[in-house]
Amino acid sequence: MTGNELRQKYLQFFAGKDHLILPSAPLVPDNDPSLLLIGAGMAPFKPFFTGKMKPPHLRIATSQRCIRTGDIENVGRTARHHTFFEMLGNFSFGDYFKKEAIAWAWEFVTKELGLAPDKLWITIYTDDDEAFEIWNKDIGLPPERIIRMEDNFWEIGTGPCGPCSEIYVDLGEERGCGKPDCAVGCNCDRYLEIWNLVFTQFDRDDAGKYSPLAKKNIDTGAGLERIASVLQNKKSNFETDLLFPIIEHAMKVAGVEYGKDARTDVSLKVIADHARSVTVMISDGILPSNEGRGYVLRRLLRRAVRHGRLLGIEKAFLGDTVDVVAEIFRQPYPDIGEKREYIKKIFQLEEARFGETLAQGTELLNQQIETLIADGGKVLDGAVTFKLYDTFGFPWELTDEILSEQGLQLDKAGFDQAMKEQRERARSARQEAAAAVVIPDLSSFGTDQLRVDSSASVGRVVCLFREGRIVEESRDGEEVAVVLNVTPFYAEGGGQVGDVGVLTGPLGKVEVTAARKLPDGTVYHLGHVTEGFLKQGDDVKIELDHLRRAASARNHSATHLLQAALREILGNHVNQAGSYVGPDRLRFDFSHFTAMTPAEITAVELAVNKAILTDTNIGTIETTQEMAKQMGAMALFGEKYGEKVRVVVVGDISKELCGGTHVGSTGEIGQFKIVAESSVGSGLRRIEAVTGLAALEYFNQREAVLENAAQLLKTRPEELVTRLELSLGHVRELEKELAALQMKLSQGIVQELLQQIKEVKGVQYVAAKVNAPDMDELRSIADRIRDGLTAGVVVLGAVVGDKVNFVAMAGKDAVARGVHAGNIVREVSAAAGGGGGGRPEMAQAGGKNPEKLETALALVNGILEKQVK
Ligand SMILES: [Zn+2]
Ligand SMILES: [Zn+2]
Repeated sequence: MTGNELRQKYLQFFAGKDHLILPSAPLVPDNDPSLLLIGAGMAPFKPFFTGKMKPPHLRIATSQRCIRTGDIENVGRTARHHTFFEMLGNFSFGDYFKKEAIAWAWEFVTKELGLAPDKLWITIYTDDDEAFEIWNKDIGLPPERIIRMEDNFWEIGTGPCGPCSEIYVDLGEERGCGKPDCAVGCNCDRYLEIWNLVFTQFDRDDAGKYSPLAKKNIDTGAGLERIASVLQNKKSNFETDLLFPIIEHAMKVAGVEYGKDARTDVSLKVIADHARSVTVMISDGILPSNEGRGYVLRRLLRRAVRHGRLLGIEKAFLGDTVDVVAEIFRQPYPDIGEKREYIKKIFQLEEARFGETLAQGTELLNQQIETLIADGGKVLDGAVTFKLYDTFGFPWELTDEILSEQGLQLDKAGFDQAMKEQRERARSARQEAAAAVVIPDLSSFGTDQLRVDSSASVGRVVCLFREGRIVEESRDGEEVAVVLNVTPFYAEGGGQVGDVGVLTGPLGKVEVTAARKLPDGTVYHLGHVTEGFLKQGDDVKIELDHLRRAASARNHSATHLLQAALREILGNHVNQAGSYVGPDRLRFDFSHFTAMTPAEITAVELAVNKAILTDTNIGTIETTQEMAKQMGAMALFGEKYGEKVRVVVVGDISKELCGGTHVGSTGEIGQFKIVAESSVGSGLRRIEAVTGLAALEYFNQREAVLENAAQLLKTRPEELVTRLELSLGHVRELEKELAALQMKLSQGIVQELLQQIKEVKGVQYVAAKVNAPDMDELRSIADRIRDGLTAGVVVLGAVVGDKVNFVAMAGKDAVARGVHAGNIVREVSAAAGGGGGGRPEMAQAGGKNPEKLETALALVNGILEKQVK
């Protein structure tokens, strides 16, 4: 059975048990700032488990794509660790419980997958007699095959929790450790856990008390790759058809074989795992960066490249693995294949970039090794190893390897400490983010009855909440979130800012500064009470800031025209990667690999403005995702769309999946002007633009600058360039004249100084204070004096501000007689509170005491007496 067949079989089985089959949610969690990436099947359903949101169906099953990087160092070293994997899960939200969950799991494993019942072992929580009865009586398993285990209890802090029950498969004695006490739970490979059933039945409070939940839930998780390894009779997940084609590909590129050498195998497995992770992450809209998800992606990609190097692959190779991954996922995730070229491009850019940091990191490491050896040390500081790891993407094993070639060691404890500190920093950052957004439990307010109606002008307060708690009323001076039974407000989303406005109740007023959406779509209005108070049940008058909304709509419609124009002019690789649509301006991020030329920018601007002039009608169609795709509507990478989608259609110009607000026809946009084009990361460009009156204001500001400049040059804007060219020509002439005069002036100084030649034992010298604004000028004067001397030495000093500069030069003949300019300058500058030195022919230095300049120069005679032989 292939991995793809297994996935399908699982979902079909649970569809047959009245489960709603949902597609894998994107890796980027929706509205959950506490979570970096989806790491478990139940993660997208958290609000359903807590009862805060109503699920679309009480039984759901998914095959969820997951990323976990906590154990990244183990990937490739064990048979089962991955950073990317798929979790099969069936969920019950207050519907079926233990009896059904256990029976179906057993039916699926034994009947559908055909695993032999006598090879299966069960674990349950120590006190869970209910589960024991079901496994023993209903399923008919003998008691000795049902093992009670203390740690079979799932909980995270306070909240829903409960016992779990696992299914293990015995892979046979030959896979075991051979110890007499080898059994389920042994660390060896013999007993493999293939399914975990969590029975969420308690609610744990702050005091540690467990009370039964009114609505009990089921949350199950089974690793797709793991079960595939059992069905395909492979020793590790990496050998299943879900991963092995990538290993084969890497083998071919590197010219190595799998299964011959443990170290080679680790590298091949790392490449296979990471190639899957990174491909799926990019297809879900994540891009490499130095923070958050982008950093996770970058780390994985770099580790894969490093392991390629360890296999002896010197050229860029990772981009081609995308084809293999796309092929593996062709059936379940066709979108990966559709975005293949784009994903490859990101791989290639990032791989090339890492090539550079790899060189930099190696250089840093070599420097550190040199210093270490020079100091007679043996152990490299753990912090340096961590920096190499963190900044340059060096796995510590690599650093260790390079060190040991030099007979040096790595401070692993110091590295671990630095790593631990970073993890703690990351954790506390996540907790802060989690604390910032608290969604109260709105389940009792019938929020599914709420409506959005753009023409609504009155509504009723359904509930109020502050800092995550439901409140009866809110008084002036307080911040509050208001949920209305009907609202015309557009809630922040899809890159567009939310509406603002005023709610007026019988006894108070709320100024709404933001409209946002809960994960279930409930719109809430965030604002502060400016007068009196507002309470639950109040009827309110709704006033929307219509001018602001119209300006946002102009900018939103313009982004659609912009995307269409970019694809027409730059090519079909252009995809939206993010956007901001506000009343003031718009920002559009898109995939493109070079800076746009001025001609391209002009062409895009022209295309958008032409589309505006056609005054094409803008309409919306509600349809299914499938139909929208067939229509050729553009969708956002990594965006989660429901079954019903809304397509915004601008005649023949553009079709996009979009929930935002738009103008009625393109003419209302008025005009469109690009104000900036820049890079925002590898393969990502950003356009900022203005429309409507904001564009007019932009032109007016530019014009005012032009007027001001013209006035300064006493001319008209039309004449500005000609006048400026004349002025600049004039400036260049003056500069030339000035340089000639300076030359003459310093020539005079040189002549004057040449009158003051002194002599020590037949060596001529000049030691003098001169005026020179900088070191360059001082050197140039010294040069010319030296040329006028025979066997000569020049020592000059100049005061610059509160410092002093020295230069000393000695001709060849003088050097032959023992003169050393470097030593002269060292002694002289020391007398003026400074230091410096240099070669025998030329040296320079600074000093801090200008008042000592004369005294210092007076030393020259004595120094030469000593030096000249
Ligand atoms: Zn064992
Ligand atoms: Zn849109």
